[in-house]
Amino acid sequence: MDSNNGSPSVDTVVVGGGMAGLAAAAYVARAGRSVVVLERSSHAGGRAITEERNGYYFNLGPHALYKEGSASHALSELGVNVSGGEPPTSGKAALSGVLHTLPSSPIDVLTTSLLGLGAKLEMGRIFATFRRQDAQAQANVSLEEWLESKVRRPAVRQLFGALVRLATYTDDPARMSAGVAIGQLQMAQQGVLYLDRGWQTLVDGLRTTAEEAGAVIQTGAPAVAIEDHGATKTVRLDGGGSYEAASVIVATPPKTAAELLGRAGTGLLAWSESAGPVRAATLDIGLSELPRPDARFVLGIDQPLYLSVHSGVGDLAPPGGTMLHVAKYLGDDASSAEEVEHELEALLDLAQPGWRDLLVERRFLPNLTVVNALATAEDGGLEGRPDIATAMPGVYLAGDWAGSEGWLADASLASAKRAANAALDSVSAPASVSSLNR
Ligand SMILES: Cc1cc2nc3c(=O)[nH]c(=O)nc-3n(C[C@H](O)[C@H](O)[C@H](O)COP(=O)(O)OP(=O)(O)OC[C@H]3O[C@@H](n4cnc5c(N)ncnc54)[C@H](O)[C@@H]3O)c2cc1C
Repeated sequence: MDSNNGSPSVDTVVVGGGMAGLAAAAYVARAGRSVVVLERSSHAGGRAITEERNGYYFNLGPHALYKEGSASHALSELGVNVSGGEPPTSGKAALSGVLHTLPSSPIDVLTTSLLGLGAKLEMGRIFATFRRQDAQAQANVSLEEWLESKVRRPAVRQLFGALVRLATYTDDPARMSAGVAIGQLQMAQQGVLYLDRGWQTLVDGLRTTAEEAGAVIQTGAPAVAIEDHGATKTVRLDGGGSYEAASVIVATPPKTAAELLGRAGTGLLAWSESAGPVRAATLDIGLSELPRPDARFVLGIDQPLYLSVHSGVGDLAPPGGTMLHVAKYLGDDASSAEEVEHELEALLDLAQPGWRDLLVERRFLPNLTVVNALATAEDGGLEGRPDIATAMPGVYLAGDWAGSEGWLADASLASAKRAANAALDSVSAPASVSSLNR
């Protein structure tokens, strides 16, 4: 690290040490450039951290890695080991307090008591053609409009809405882009993984890759401003101190990014306020054993609820133990945290009666940001998100809200790679991420 007017000087400063910031730093460092990551909190990882309690691995709510998504591709490119199992697609559907077979395969469609004959035929027809739907063509249509125009029976619409919630985490059919919903359901059909020892393994893997390539990761270092001096940017830290850099990658939530950019972030600030986050509440539970092994997965049909046993599929609990997650997709829900916690407990009572006597660890998180910005039909779906280039040349954006590729962590890592490439290209030497991919 060089020094310029007393400030350390590097090729690239990355602000934010979540998955996006760590991946961006790894790409930049592997291209031979000097990079420092500034992370506000005392540890890196952001929303992908896992807390180990008594041998139970607590992700921040249920986390599944999309096997064919941009995150999987970037992790493999960066040499990060991904180990875990693929959950079965079978499960239960909760409707009016009763559990039915979830019609997630053609055979389950035929046998479930959830749907009448006409609805089964319509569901079967949709299943048969769904993979071929052109998601992009529906980007400007809301999920609600799309369902009303394409699906005749209310029961099938309701089921479809529940499957979209599962794949996207989003419960806002009136605003959400149908294109994003369809694309993400198609992505889910290609399979997901529950990871052994949780998503912390991805954080640790990205961090190791970045550090081995020379990146410096500084925790407890909140950035407060980015100043533009032409070819050089100054990143100021809370409490004094600063870094000089040729390029900056901002991998924070959008409102923070806008504030760091000052006047150059005015448009971004307005956009982030209108897009609004996708939120969820989760009850994460460690049990000494599972009362009902036949109800490992339950999807709420008339309520935006989810329950899934992640251990067994992924190595996430001590021998004989069970790690499970219950979640509510919050939408514009106005219930109190206490009411939501009771709803989640009620789903557990329905699916896993007796769980309270087997409880070892529990954690309730009432209001998590799952995605920083809803992809609305009004904005044209993913195309409506801000580009990775900002109004301040040499400063780029990464995160689940930046760039037009992917959803959830797939968006974080797709934008991280693009931002790293842009940062590399903005400095004279030609190395770029794509040159690393051979
Ligand atoms: C309940 C839940 C379930 C999820 N399930 C899935 C799933 O199944 N599949 C999936 O793909 N994704 C899932 N996700 C999303 C996934 O966790 C995120 O997409 C991913 O972790 C986001 O990484 P990021 O780096 O973009 O953002 P973050 O993890 O939010 O990282 C941003 C970082 O910036 C730091 N920061 C903020 N301000 C500053 C500042 N001023 N200076 C320095 N640092 C700063 C923060 O401390 C943080 O570490 C889920 C998320 C939640 C909450």
